[in-house]
Amino acid sequence: MAQSTTAYVGLGSNLGDRARYIADAVRMLSEQPALRSVETGDVLETKPLGRGDHHPYLNAVARVRTTLAPEDLLRTLQRIEKGLGRTRPEKWAPRTIDLDLLLFGEDIIDLPHLKVPHPRMHLRSFVLIGLCRLDPTLRHPVLEATVRELAERLNGGDFALDARVPQLVSIAGNIGAGKTTLANKLSARFGCPLLLEPYDTNPFMPDVYAGRKELALDSQLYFLTSRIDQLSPDSLSAGQIVLTDYVFDKEMIYARRLLDERQLELYEKTYAPLAARVAEPVLVLYLRDSAEECLQRIHDRNRPYEQQITLDFLKDLAGDYETLFDNWKNCPVIRLNTPNLDYGDGNTIARLADHLRHYLSTESVACSSPQVKS
Ligand code: ATP
Ligand code: CA
Ligand code: CA
Repeated sequence: MAQSTTAYVGLGSNLGDRARYIADAVRMLSEQPALRSVETGDVLETKPLGRGDHHPYLNAVARVRTTLAPEDLLRTLQRIEKGLGRTRPEKWAPRTIDLDLLLFGEDIIDLPHLKVPHPRMHLRSFVLIGLCRLDPTLRHPVLEATVRELAERLNGGDFALDARVPQLVSIAGNIGAGKTTLANKLSARFGCPLLLEPYDTNPFMPDVYAGRKELALDSQLYFLTSRIDQLSPDSLSAGQIVLTDYVFDKEMIYARRLLDERQLELYEKTYAPLAARVAEPVLVLYLRDSAEECLQRIHDRNRPYEQQITLDFLKDLAGDYETLFDNWKNCPVIRLNTPNLDYGDGNTIARLADHLRHYLSTESVACSSPQVKS
């Protein structure tokens, strides 16, 4: 008897009687002699991702057991698409039915006409949520993470890789979490520019940390303007990977913690128009560690003005970052626990960089030699 494999198929329809097309496709799948125990999760409604089509989709995910080889399964899916009136006028056009082969056991397939796992499935909540409902422990064989973990990174959003914007990767996290160390290592690995926080050139910060609260607004404005310069879309190239050791949105977190009411009012007026002009990250790496460990690192690195930082302040910031990323919808967020990052093992950074590439569009990138700008 031929060996059977568990495969997952994504279904989508955004033309005509969408629910009917999904139901018909599921029925046609279950009528195939080489497909058994076809199960589907809930049907979800999704906004279209692509350019130029505005019809919302209905999406679902089906699990099948099959004795077919992956290419034969793809051909079967294409036959069903054709049977349901699917035409292929252009890439993003509305379609009666779209059947994608998402996963085929643990197979990794890289043929011109068939890529498995589906190369964009980890960017689509409608796929990952559908897979989670069928089996949250299911693993992505390339990204080596469960579909539940992959879904959490997207926070309900759907994302498309877009080489027309700078591939800005922002590393976020508490003071002392290890952002700059990681940013340096990743930028060396990618051979890409690194934009570092200008912490040592801010002339106001030592005084602020020493208790001169009247200078807090000057200090925050100094940081704000330097970030605006670094993240101006004019200074970043489309399709080019760029790393920062901060996320722009931390500016408001710090302003709320450090400014008094009148200072904050003025700051917010300045912030809003400037914030609208900065390049958005396409990916955030959120480094997490306990406030106690961060404080220990702050003591160890011994920057003089930082020695005033208290454990309570770090705990407040940690809570602010959690809230920021619990509500973050702009791009995927990968959470990393600092203690799990073993830089002594030379492969850690290489593996992480390879992993991150799946979230970046580097089609048109000619990687330059590393350069540091702060
Ligand atoms: P997306 O793949 O981003 O969801 P799409 O479904 O609209 O976009 P199609 O026009 O349906 O894209 O497919 C384009 C080509 O993708 C097909 O000719 C097919 O050979 C190829 N392909 C590669 N890998 C897969 C896969 N895992 N499942 C389905 N088609 C695939
Ligand atoms: Ca598709
Ligand atoms: Ca398709």
